[in-house]
Amino acid sequence: MDLFEHQARQLFEEHGIVVPRAEITDSPKEAREIARRLGGRVVVKAQVKTGGRGKAGGVKLAADPAAAELTARQILGMEIKGHTVGTVMLAQPVDIESEFYVSYVLDRAAGRFLAIASAEGGMDVEEVAATRPEAVARIPVDPAEGVTSAKAGEIASAAGLPPRTADVLVRLWQVLVREDALLVEVNPLVRTAQGQLLALDGKVTLDDNAGFRQTRWGAEHEDRDDPLETAAAAKGLHYVKLDGSVGVIGNGAGLVMSTLDVVAGCGARPANFLDIGGGASARVMADGLSVILSDPAVKSVFVNVFGGITACDAVAEGIVQALDTVRLTKPLVVRLDGNNAARGRAILDEHAHPLVQQATTMDGAARRAAELATAAA
Ligand code: GDP
Ligand code: MN
Repeated sequence: MDLFEHQARQLFEEHGIVVPRAEITDSPKEAREIARRLGGRVVVKAQVKTGGRGKAGGVKLAADPAAAELTARQILGMEIKGHTVGTVMLAQPVDIESEFYVSYVLDRAAGRFLAIASAEGGMDVEEVAATRPEAVARIPVDPAEGVTSAKAGEIASAAGLPPRTADVLVRLWQVLVREDALLVEVNPLVRTAQGQLLALDGKVTLDDNAGFRQTRWGAEHEDRDDPLETAAAAKGLHYVKLDGSVGVIGNGAGLVMSTLDVVAGCGARPANFLDIGGGASARVMADGLSVILSDPAVKSVFVNVFGGITACDAVAEGIVQALDTVRLTKPLVVRLDGNNAARGRAILDEHAHPLVQQATTMDGAARRAAELATAAA
């Protein structure tokens, strides 16, 4: 999960990295108050989980509280790379002398971290990296050894950063380790005309696998690409939006993946998929169906279950009970196989819902679901 800039800078601050004074708000009126508190002149910054805000007009200097209100009004609601700005941060402006780039990122292939640093940070760092790669230092970091003062000195010197930045590099590593991050980035890390080192922007990506011990930034802060993904995640379901018209529900990641292939093989495209995992209780089925059916692109739904520990009759009961709470609006093709498949099919036959049909093979069911989706399109 990515953090917002204002969350990232909170972590930096807690680990002793200096950041400018700042406050966030979603109201232009309050922006004016904040600007007054911060001394009048402020930088107004869009809070969205994407980079390049500066170039998109999402970072602007305001000369006084009235200008801050106006600028906040402009930036709030702005769309930046598909993200709508709901919050702005107002920060005390800094008198920049130099802009540096520093980051640590997990290098999965190498099984270690990579320190990336450059004395030419700022908004054009991607271009610097592309046109003059020698201006960007890449130093492997052994996760067991971490970034000691000596290592930090090595990174700073390789990148041509002032030796004093070593202290920031050590602290930034501590942010990564203590917060279970996969990426921490400061761009720009600036040296002010007064010689102070400050983190002016921050990006932190947390490792979702450590979510159980990093509960501070709740999922409600997450701005997923699709609102249904958020709704599904809130119910503990794994739902992914795709761009076709067949809704896919299956149990287990492997089966779900092959279901997508089979649907595609029948000439239709999956609209989404939802893995209900091992347990397919009525509750999970109802939640799953309601998520899938709320996607307007769905023209038919394919429920593909291979009964293992969860027997097919329990899944069938789940579907029948789910149909009591969820109004079925699209045709449902169900394929039950494996443990207690015959009993499961009998339960669905008995229920005889007009929009539910069964198929005994995965290919047959996929073909049927594809036909229904095409017919409805
Ligand atoms: P990004 O474009 O999303 O990476 O947003 P940043 O927070 O990095 O801001 C973009 C640029 O705005 C920075 O590289 C700085 O050059 C500039 N900037 C941000 N804050 C200040 C500030 O307090 N003073 C000055 N002079 N420039 C700033
Ligand atoms: Mn930046």
